[in-house]
Amino acid sequence: MRRPRVGIIGAGQLGRMMALAAYPLGIECRFVDTEADSPGGQIGPIRCAALDDLDALTAMAHEVDVVTFDIENVSVTALEALTKIVPVQPNPAIVALAQDRLAEKQLFESLSIPTARYVAIDSEADLARAARELGWPIVLKARRLGYDGRGQRIVGGEAELAAAYEDLGRLPSIAEAWVEFERELSLIGVRGSDAQTRFYPLSENVHRDGILESSIAPYDDKALQASAEASMTEMMQRHDYTGILTIEFFATADGLVANEIAPRVHNSGHWTIEGAATSQFENHIRAILGLPLGSTAVRGVAAMRNLIGRMPARPSLLAIEGAHLHDYGKSARPGRKLGHVTLLAASKHEAVERLAAVAKAVDSASG
Ligand code: AMP
Repeated sequence: MRRPRVGIIGAGQLGRMMALAAYPLGIECRFVDTEADSPGGQIGPIRCAALDDLDALTAMAHEVDVVTFDIENVSVTALEALTKIVPVQPNPAIVALAQDRLAEKQLFESLSIPTARYVAIDSEADLARAARELGWPIVLKARRLGYDGRGQRIVGGEAELAAAYEDLGRLPSIAEAWVEFERELSLIGVRGSDAQTRFYPLSENVHRDGILESSIAPYDDKALQASAEASMTEMMQRHDYTGILTIEFFATADGLVANEIAPRVHNSGHWTIEGAATSQFENHIRAILGLPLGSTAVRGVAAMRNLIGRMPARPSLLAIEGAHLHDYGKSARPGRKLGHVTLLAASKHEAVERLAAVAKAVDSASG
């Protein structure tokens, strides 16, 4: 019998790390991506085509047991077409909700999950309503194609609102009330095809310019963990979810406020490769192939630092105690995620210290 095969749309670092988790289990991965030398293409067979090229996707779908994806903005029309050939996980319906910030907000509301107050923006009249109802600052976000802080503007007062909308190309948007958060947390969970669920502990995340810079896990708070798991369980059951799901939260004085979901493996879970018994990547592969899920137990404290724009010299990172380097094999470009470092430590204090050592190596590389 041939080995199980997973088809992955997009061969970025997430696809690469899925493949790196799959191969030890005797599972093969195939990719579709625009570039042969993409991070995933360096690991497994790749078809070079546009990510919504139905011919290429169909050809891949015929060769595999399940199709998944490593990009947020995968074509839902293509995913739906592929479901006629092979299972596609996570299911296209929830992917469609996650791609539209308005639908995502309505998803939270339908499940009674607290989220920031918002106004849908399609005209100047909506802007005026947002200015009346939301207070300042407002975060104006394009409904579609926004990620890593792109497609959004923080607006300090009414005088700047129209210009910010213009600046976003007058795209259908949402205006969000500013959330006074104490910290940002994310929950990563996995649901198997038998509806079994497992959750990683909350990760505490720091963003810079809208891009994730670092994470530390576990964020130990039983009440918040239970609240986040309850929200995710409800979402997974209601949408018959299979695979890894991420919810990003703001932790406020009044509890968790959901910001967004990602129906895929997530940057804030990269620490699970070394920091958990089974990584998010392996559990995603297990779930979508209908295999038993692996333990999500943690190994001490883990921290993760993204390497963005420029790669520090390898020795400067590998000299740090407890450091594990992941180089995605990409060429350097400002703002581009080129790799990450995971740091294992015995305590949060030690993790913070090791994170500071990585920050120093990063600063000297870009200085
Ligand atoms: P997003 O693209 O929605 O994940 O936003 C990127 C980052 O911008 C978040 O991780 C926050 O740091 C910040 N942010 C987004 N929306 C809000 C908000 N409503 N209030 C405060 N900060 C926000």
